[in-house]
Amino acid sequence: MKHQLSLKNFTLCVAFTLISTILTGQSALAQVSIVTSVPDYAAIAKTIGRDKVDVISLTKGYQDPHFVDAKPIFITRLNKADMLIYNGLDLEIGWLPILITGARNSDIASPSAIGHYNASASIKDFLDVHAAPIDRSMGDVHPGGNPHFMLDPRNGIPVARGIAARLIRMDPENAALYEENFKNFVSALRLKISEWETELVPFKGIEVVTYHKLWTYFLDWAGLKHAGTIEPKPGISPTPSHTAELIKNMERDNIRLIIAANYYPGKTASIIAQKAGATFIPLPTMVEGRDGIDTYIELFDAIVGEITSALNNTRDSN
Ligand SMILES: [Zn+2]
Repeated sequence: MKHQLSLKNFTLCVAFTLISTILTGQSALAQVSIVTSVPDYAAIAKTIGRDKVDVISLTKGYQDPHFVDAKPIFITRLNKADMLIYNGLDLEIGWLPILITGARNSDIASPSAIGHYNASASIKDFLDVHAAPIDRSMGDVHPGGNPHFMLDPRNGIPVARGIAARLIRMDPENAALYEENFKNFVSALRLKISEWETELVPFKGIEVVTYHKLWTYFLDWAGLKHAGTIEPKPGISPTPSHTAELIKNMERDNIRLIIAANYYPGKTASIIAQKAGATFIPLPTMVEGRDGIDTYIELFDAIVGEITSALNNTRDSN
């Protein structure tokens, strides 16, 4: 009896799929094709869309997202996409706009298109906002604020909400599923955020040196302080005079930790750490920034875990 019923349901389901295919001209099984600029957004889109979406990131998590070679294959991918997800706030300004123009895809090109999602539009508070006029002598400074907001895990929530909202509009048939996956992601992330915050409590107020001003949001959330950068200015390579001054300041203030995205050259950071008696740890800063980091949560598990264990070790050696 049960078997017969499910067979009947199956027949009904096939009939419905056929009718909807005829009506919409599309298979109900077609996935939403999503292209993202960096892997963090691909990971979140996959978590929310699961098998209803086909997601590809243009760049890898171990690549510097400020500087990317615009390959022709990127244009092909954007041309076929239903949705583009990118960081915004000028992070991809050097390479993405030209690809969008080349792709000639009206579904994703205009900022007002449903398929055009600029993640920074979902973030309320930016850090390092420059009110004064900006010129090139200040380095690669973004007037609207520091674009590395995804390194505050709390910002994963509004971005996930934004992605879910777009998917619901683009594919209303699967709205309940997107909604549920979004809610599950947020509760899992919230739980982890409070765990990470507990792990970080003992280190509140500790000063760390970074390579690039990539960690502003992370440090702000983690309760750590920024003691300086190896880059004299954002996007400007280290200089001997700046490096010498940095070492002097680190010794004076007993700064024991240098962190840097693992795509920056580690040599200068290692030398500075050695001279100042500090520890240098290269860290993944995006999903897939290292093997085994496939989700946004796994990314922060790695970052928080490695920073707290390095700070524990430097404390022990004091
Ligand atoms: Zn940057």
